[in-house]
Amino acid sequence: MKGFTTQIVHNDRLGGIEHGSVHKPIHTSVAFGYDDTHELAAVFQGKQPGYTYGRQINPTVEALEDKVSKMERGLKTVCFGTGMAAIGTAVFSLLRNGDHIVSSAYLFGNTNSLFNSFTAHGIDVTFVDATSAAEVEAAITDKTRLVFVETIANPRTQVTALAETGALCAERGLIYIVDNTMTSPYLFQPVDVQATFVLNSLTKYIGGHGNALGGAITEMGHFDWEKFDNIYETYKTGNPQMWGLTQIKKKGLRDFGAALSAEAAHHISVGAETLALRLQRQCESAQALAEFLNNHNKVRKVFYPGLEDHPEYGRSKELFRYPGAILSFELAEDVDLWDYMDRLEVIIKSTNLGDNRTLAIPVAHTIYYEMGPERRASMGIDDSLIRISVGIEDVEDLIEDFSQAFG
Ligand SMILES: *Cc1c(COP(=O)(O)O)cnc(C)c1O
Repeated sequence: MKGFTTQIVHNDRLGGIEHGSVHKPIHTSVAFGYDDTHELAAVFQGKQPGYTYGRQINPTVEALEDKVSKMERGLKTVCFGTGMAAIGTAVFSLLRNGDHIVSSAYLFGNTNSLFNSFTAHGIDVTFVDATSAAEVEAAITDKTRLVFVETIANPRTQVTALAETGALCAERGLIYIVDNTMTSPYLFQPVDVQATFVLNSLTKYIGGHGNALGGAITEMGHFDWEKFDNIYETYKTGNPQMWGLTQIKKKGLRDFGAALSAEAAHHISVGAETLALRLQRQCESAQALAEFLNNHNKVRKVFYPGLEDHPEYGRSKELFRYPGAILSFELAEDVDLWDYMDRLEVIIKSTNLGDNRTLAIPVAHTIYYEMGPERRASMGIDDSLIRISVGIEDVEDLIEDFSQAFG
């Protein structure tokens, strides 16, 4: 098998494209017509592959799905308009009233909010410290169907007990969803820890340029869908390994309609070509910045899995190619958060992560504001905590900017 980047940059043209085009074109057609009506019916009935309607299938989106499957070493991928659409649609499609989810407590803010909505609709969620598989195990009940974790949590950079939780889910027959957004398939491939599905927000590192939203869910082929009660009879056709993803695509994507546009899929595909190049540099700069901040007397604490005093330093080293490009830090008591942030010149004060530009955000006052002080405290989010998403700028300029802002 060819290497990671070789596969991505050559994937489109190997499928055969008119005029010898090396990119899959942007197909904007919403509908697809057939000369033979029997063929149209066969495509609708799933007896023949083909294109029907843009909410379910589009050639440009399919080309990206194929790339994501290759990157994740998965069987098949379904793309969505955003990462949140992928998470929401997947969970909605697979679970029913009375089912139970065990989720990492160290969770992307909007996923946390989404899971609370599921609770209001009869699907209960227990949040646990997923850096310990024993904590995950203790929360499992006879109603549990699904375990949801992130690789490196945001903003405090806790690293989930990914392998141990995967073994636990395999043993108990639970769906194991790993949100790989913070690491991306270049740093880590959750197929190696028995993930059922890998979730990616394509908006972040895979797209990389902060110019397109997208999400994806990839089937890894580990789960026995024949033993899972919630698959509708209509979707129990063909290879049983694909039943779960088929239900997500048919019940979820088709019925909810959070489709990825062809234009966004094209932007993300072009971005994906340089994922490895960008992320290697971003991770090396993150390490240098983490060390710089860690040695600064105006910084109280730095959270980055590449620092030896990080609780999961060893686990991160074992699992990931690099410890990621997100770090966060707490300011010393006598540094005013707002003044410090306002003095940053190169670094942009903004949300988002995985962009080519370095972004900084005071998380307690912004992305984690809505969840309130109690939940923030339980997640270890201090009022002075600043999250940094390290971009591709020259590292000397980044260090200089963080340095001058201390005044
Ligand atoms: C951003 C993000 C999401 C959601 O992705 P969107 O494309 O913004 O909807 C989900 N999980 C993690 C870990 C993220 O960082």
